[in-house]
Amino acid sequence: MNTDQSAEAKPTPWTHRHLLGLEELTAGEILTILDVAEDHVALSTRQEKKRNTLQDKVVVTLFFEPSTRTRASFHFAARRLGAEVSDFAAAVSSLNKGETFIDTARNIEAMGIDAVVVRHSVPGAPHLLAQHLRCSIINAGDGAHEHPTQGLLDIFTIRRIKGRIAGLTVGLVGDIAHSRVARSNIHGLVKLGARVIVCGPPTLIPADIRALGVEVDYHLDRILPQCDVVNVLRIQFERQRSGLFPSIQEYFRLYGMHAGRLAEARPDLLLLAPGPINRGVELTPEVADGPNSAILQQVTNGLAVRMAVLSLLCGDRS
Ligand code: ASP
Repeated sequence: MNTDQSAEAKPTPWTHRHLLGLEELTAGEILTILDVAEDHVALSTRQEKKRNTLQDKVVVTLFFEPSTRTRASFHFAARRLGAEVSDFAAAVSSLNKGETFIDTARNIEAMGIDAVVVRHSVPGAPHLLAQHLRCSIINAGDGAHEHPTQGLLDIFTIRRIKGRIAGLTVGLVGDIAHSRVARSNIHGLVKLGARVIVCGPPTLIPADIRALGVEVDYHLDRILPQCDVVNVLRIQFERQRSGLFPSIQEYFRLYGMHAGRLAEARPDLLLLAPGPINRGVELTPEVADGPNSAILQQVTNGLAVRMAVLSLLCGDRS
């Protein structure tokens, strides 16, 4: 399947009410988000203090799975755009008293909400909300399905550092089968014309993944010298059944990013990881904190990307 729309891709006007995944977006729409994010960099790095794009808007974060970066990033992004923000604590809500997911969300919406940022362990949960609620729904990660703003901030970081996406070779390394970050990266990168190679143990790569327009290789040392970018994905122990690879030591030997392995890569290899990182499992501290790594830049860029998404979905279109 050739999904590369990059040849003629130009930013196209934004028409969506929700952001559910990168699979649903065209190359032009992804470029629009990236360009709007670019316009928010000064705000995200606090060179500019505040805007009022979302003045009088109300954003709720509704997280049913743990989060460090994504939730805080949406919160700060919305606040710096002038919105009112509330973080809904699923663990202490009436869900514990038997209220359904939809009823909970509907009750929150009844308080006059413009956007719900939702994370849930069930794939498709944000899509379900989009069918039942009138406000904008932003998918902040649904099971192993998609994590669109993470995919966008990864792509944004690549474009800022490498100057382009089309023609780059990007390796996605690790637990491809259980990673929503992998899927969002694949949809976005392939649409923008990158060559994407997924790499990891055969048990952690879905058999039908080539249908998404990627190459598959089980040997990191073979693909590494070809890569402009490697995105190191965490082993999603919480989503796996056991026994998918022999041991963490064996995984690290074959797929861990360490200084010796990095020496075989291009000197300007760009190393990304969505976080949380497990130091010593997917990559060593010297690599995570070294000159090739843009891990903390990703976090900073995440703010600009989420500001872009919130403004496109909820800002007044005049
Ligand atoms: N934080 C990302 C996610 O929620 C990546 C990860 O957990 O490995 O999917």
